[in-house]
Amino acid sequence: MRRLRRGLQLSLLAAALGLPTGALPAAPLSPLPNLGDSGDLSLSAERRLGDRIAREIYRDPDYIDDALLEEYAQGVWQSLLAAARQRGEVTPEMDARLAFELLLIRDRSVNAFALPGGYMGLHLGMIGVVSSGDELASVLGHELSHITQRHISRMTTQQSQQTPWLIGAMILGVLAASKSPDAANALLTGGQALALQNQLNFSRDMEREADRVGFGVMTQAGYAPEAFASMFEKLQQSTRLSDSGAFPYLRTHPLTTERIGDVQSRLPKGAAGAVAPPPAVTPLHAMMAARARVLANPTSEALRLWQDEANSLSFEGLDRARKMGALTSALLSTIRLREFAQAKQLLARLQSLSKDEAPTLRLTRWMAAELALAQEDAPSALKLLGDATPSTRPELLLQAQAQVRAGQANLAAQSLQIWVAIHPKDASAWMGLSSAYNAMGQTVGAVRAEAEAQVALLDYAGALARFKAAQSRIKSNGAGRSAGDHIEASIIDTRTREVESLAREQLSER
Ligand SMILES: [Zn+2]
Repeated sequence: MRRLRRGLQLSLLAAALGLPTGALPAAPLSPLPNLGDSGDLSLSAERRLGDRIAREIYRDPDYIDDALLEEYAQGVWQSLLAAARQRGEVTPEMDARLAFELLLIRDRSVNAFALPGGYMGLHLGMIGVVSSGDELASVLGHELSHITQRHISRMTTQQSQQTPWLIGAMILGVLAASKSPDAANALLTGGQALALQNQLNFSRDMEREADRVGFGVMTQAGYAPEAFASMFEKLQQSTRLSDSGAFPYLRTHPLTTERIGDVQSRLPKGAAGAVAPPPAVTPLHAMMAARARVLANPTSEALRLWQDEANSLSFEGLDRARKMGALTSALLSTIRLREFAQAKQLLARLQSLSKDEAPTLRLTRWMAAELALAQEDAPSALKLLGDATPSTRPELLLQAQAQVRAGQANLAAQSLQIWVAIHPKDASAWMGLSSAYNAMGQTVGAVRAEAEAQVALLDYAGALARFKAAQSRIKSNGAGRSAGDHIEASIIDTRTREVESLAREQLSER
């Protein structure tokens, strides 16, 4: 949360630590909800607390919606949710009250964390380090179970002297400290950060329960049970390799021999009592993990390293999946470095390894279109993506971008309008629609679409400011008002009232 609302966070942190606020830079404190006296945190109260935290994460420049990684992680997350519903871990009441939203964060550290209200934070570093979707499902299944077992609510009740909003402040504080040690040092000594963290840790019993329930959920979703154990082993190795405790997931989830033993005892045994090996790395997973690693660390030094790997001596020793991973990170890095001739060579090598495998052919085609767009060659990107409106989100969003740049903004607007009608919480699609409208000269519609993106990101004040801007634009059009303006005006009036009431609800929680 490096550049994120530092002032607010410092004040909240000061409160959490019992420091005199005068000792810290003054910052406007937005009203905090009083979520009730101590006692069980209701699902609705937990959701309101989660919304506050999620809104801060959405505002953070490190919040990332990469269409491919989002789709990959969502695939795992949604199948876990479906299994948890079947098992009754997610009750209908939880489904009605909690968000169950997955938020991707551009951060190299290996971390995934359950937040209040059904939100789940997932660092790109975690996607980059796991060997399979099954291992990712192990981590997310465990975290999901902290949510469904109401551990966060129980944590706030156990610490009855802590009000829920203070817990929220501490969570934001720890997230900030884990991302930016320098900023944290100005305020927090290592010991204080640790004390904060310790207050947020789940109890051993909760961890055991999350392991047990999470294991049941991930296996019911069809993931390999062996991955639960290999994930633990991987995290243990990672902690030995890492120099400076760059693995917050481990700090919050101490891997005791007892926990590892528990997991191993759950694994199905073959006739000879042997446990099957965990799933091998697939080309699809290797490519997604490679993309996550590059996006998590896009410094030019790192990009050069990824680029070199595809031409190193060790490359030839890799299996096919890992070769495709190495080529994916090299290609993405080379696109970022804008060395397009070399990028084309890397793409050709990737294509020759894709064979007739549908998932990798698809990824390779998407990256070819990404390369064409980076070269300002929108027609080639469109040729790769096809004429029809894609049914999958990564293709749809990229096609819309290419259409806007190729002078076909009306086509982009058409497909995005249909998409947001079905997926109104898709902020990136709303932003795409906004740029399509802008390219068409429909500035009122563009501002309204931007407002809807803010609603999706829970920033109601930001949305209202844009709705008002759109309204005054229509007024200033005066006699030149078109029929379209009248339709826009009535949509905007309705949406303004709806969002005003959402904003009031937020404020009334004092
Ligand atoms: Zn846990």
